[in-house]
Amino acid sequence: MVWVETFEAGEVFPDPGDLARYLKTGPSLSNELPALIDSAAEIFAGHATPRGVCRLVDVPAESPEPSQAAGLLLRSPLFAGATKLAFLVATLGPGPEERISAFFSGGDYLAGWILEACSLAALDSVVKKLAAAVQAQAGPELRVGNVLSPGCHALPLSTQKIIFAGDCGAAIGVRLNDSQLMLPLKSTSGILPLGRELAYPAGSDTCRFCNRRQDCVYRYAG
Ligand code: SF4
Repeated sequence: MVWVETFEAGEVFPDPGDLARYLKTGPSLSNELPALIDSAAEIFAGHATPRGVCRLVDVPAESPEPSQAAGLLLRSPLFAGATKLAFLVATLGPGPEERISAFFSGGDYLAGWILEACSLAALDSVVKKLAAAVQAQAGPELRVGNVLSPGCHALPLSTQKIIFAGDCGAAIGVRLNDSQLMLPLKSTSGILPLGRELAYPAGSDTCRFCNRRQDCVYRYAG
């Protein structure tokens, strides 16, 4: 089952709390920041086309260990108990990246940096909305896990090819280049596990099985 979700730019533009994760500005910018974010929001509204595509696949009940689905080996314990997987691709379209590049080319680094941060947070928001859409589609009896992305400890980068199998990214204008990089650049992909007995539902510490957790500066919890 494959479907596309489309969002208004204003639905995914980050609130100040989300932006705090990306913008670690000092006091020197505190007066200017609200106006800079307002300006970024205006540009974002005029140039972003947030969309996502979701593909639901079953994990066969008779699957051997490690279980597999759609050609993907589910080696990480974070997939334990999954009976379905949702393959997700999200994008903001080419517009935000073009504006960011134009700011940097023109020497307006601050405006480019603010729009970059807003766009990354907005992309996170698109993924959260896709996860909610998958939950609604799958029904309340299935628990959803955390979205895991190719290149993280739970999924090799080569997973990109499986997520993009059947050229599902084309439905929202996203393609992979030879290095598995998604174009437009403000795009992301991931896999969401679902199951009645999912061992690690959404909100679990996704870093718990990562061998970099002891010294990782990006670790959110645990
Ligand atoms: S510890 Fe760091 S690298 Fe490992 S999953 Fe967490 S954030 Fe990613």
